[in-house]
Parts: sequence; structure tokens; C-alpha cells
Amino acid sequence: MKHLPILLAIICTFFFLSSFATAQVVKPTDRQVAVTIDDLPAGMADRLPAADITAMTTRLLTTLRDQKIPVVGFVNEKKLYKAGEVDERIKALEMWLDYGFELGNHTFSHASLNQVGLKAWEDDVIQGESVTKLLLAQHKMKLRYFRHPYLDTGRDLLTRHEAEAFLVERGYRIAPITLDGWDWMFAGVYEDAKKRNDTALQQQIVKDYLAYHDAVFAYFEQLSSRVVGYEPKQILLLHASNLEADHIGELLDVLRKRGYRFITLQDALSDGAYSLPDTYVGEEGTGWIEHWAISQGKIPHGAPVFPQWVIDKAKELHQSTGQVSANTP
Ligand SMILES: [Zn+2]
Repeated sequence: MKHLPILLAIICTFFFLSSFATAQVVKPTDRQVAVTIDDLPAGMADRLPAADITAMTTRLLTTLRDQKIPVVGFVNEKKLYKAGEVDERIKALEMWLDYGFELGNHTFSHASLNQVGLKAWEDDVIQGESVTKLLLAQHKMKLRYFRHPYLDTGRDLLTRHEAEAFLVERGYRIAPITLDGWDWMFAGVYEDAKKRNDTALQQQIVKDYLAYHDAVFAYFEQLSSRVVGYEPKQILLLHASNLEADHIGELLDVLRKRGYRFITLQDALSDGAYSLPDTYVGEEGTGWIEHWAISQGKIPHGAPVFPQWVIDKAKELHQSTGQVSANTP
């Protein structure tokens, strides 16, 4: 009987080790994500002077280059055309290539396929190619990726398929997204707080931006397993903004803590998940894990709730901007 405690200890150790081994198998240790950044040269290019766009781009790209993160940036060329600033804005765009990143097309004017109709949208895709193609050619690269503005892929299947055939015909690979924490919504409020030197508000925004993204990553990891059967190579959607320029390093740390390493978009797209049946159509653009879920008749639920105070603040700002533009002819 005196050996009983030792025996128990051995048994407990065995079960502890075997449960640990099981946990190791279940928990993915090698998560992968490709980073993509939309609305170049800057989401708020209309409101930012070229010098600010250049400074923002420099900070953003320096962090990404130092941390060896492969990135594709998606361009709206309309944002280049501001009187007296065209050259400097094109230079800011060219920095992406000089720093070793790639550029893709996000249409000329950020037109929604769900709003403007197929023909006008196709024209916007073509008009969005000129400068980007030229810059890529100078760097011995080709324009090969397209990202739908607002993730709007068409209100009906016919439009969706015609638009996709058009893109393939022009040599594009569509760049889906699977991880999206609405950073643009935080970015607008951050921009205003930064302009007013409200550091307390900036800190509050950054805290919630990081926490919300962490929750979104956890949610999509679980939804991936439910819908795809495993966690595919993910594609993260971010936007060119001062928020990202100042804090993308902390967001990359959130991903690292979850076990992610950073891969190219091309590598991510080699995952078989991106060939899954996808018959999603709708008024609202959404990510591809939701596309696949809805195509399988599964309704996604349990998504983390976006901080309401950020939405309220963004609405307030939008209204005040609205008043300004209403008074401007
Ligand atoms: Zn966009």
C-alpha cells in the first residue's frame, strides 16, 4: 500500500502528459497569414496633404520592411489627382515598390460593383490600371492582383460571374480576404484625435483596435475550422492610415502571439480553401470565410461586437464633415 501515492503520481503524470500531447495536436502551431493594405496611397487621401501621405507611408513601410512582412497594397489612382500634388502622391505610391512590396488594383475611384453597375465598374477597373502598371513595369513587375472595393462582389450571381470573368480576362487574380477587423473605422477616429493632439483618446482607440482585432482573429479561426475543416492560410485586410503607420507593429505582435507567421499573398492563395464552392451574393460585402459558410448553408454567429463608442464617434465626425462639405459649393 505504501507505493500507492507513487503509483498515483505516475498515473497522473501519464494522463497529464497524454492530455498535453492531445492539446498539442489539436492546437495549430503553424498559423499563416498574408497582409494586404487597401486604399493606397491613403484611405483619407482627400483630407491629407501630400506631405502627410509621404510621412505616413514612410513610417508604415519602414516597420513592414524592418519586420520582413510581405505585403500587397491596393491602389485607388483617383487619389493621386490633387492639383499641385500629383508628382508627390505618385512618389508616395512608388515607395511601396522601392521598399520591396507589391501593388494591386482596387479600381480607380473605389467604386462598388453593387452600386454602379457592371459596365461602369469595369471601366473603373481599367481606369485604375494606368499609373500602377507603369510603376510596376519600371520595377519589372506585372499588375496581377485585384481587390473589390467594400468587398462588394455583386448583388446577383450573374453579375458576380461576369465581373470575375472580366477580371480573369484582364489577367487578374482576385485577392479575397479572410480576416477583417474594420481598422478603417478606428482609423478615422484616430486621425481626428491625432490632429487635435488628444493622446488619451488615441490610446483608448489603439487599445480597442488591438483587442477587437484579437477577438476577430479568434472568431475567424473557429469559424474556419467549422466551415473549412482547418485553418487555411489567412489573408488580413488593413487600410493605409496613420493608425496603421503608428501601430501596425503592435497588431503584428497580436498575430505572432496567436502563432502566426507572415507569408506572401501568392503563398496564401495556394491554399485549397480558396477554391471552395462560393455562391455568395448580397448587398453587403463580406469576408471569404463567411462566403464559404453561407454557400454551405451555415449561418455564421458569435462574431465579436464592434465597440459602439467608436461607431458613434465616427458618425459624429462624418456629420461634421458633411456640414463642412454642405457649405462648400
Ligand atoms: Zn477599399
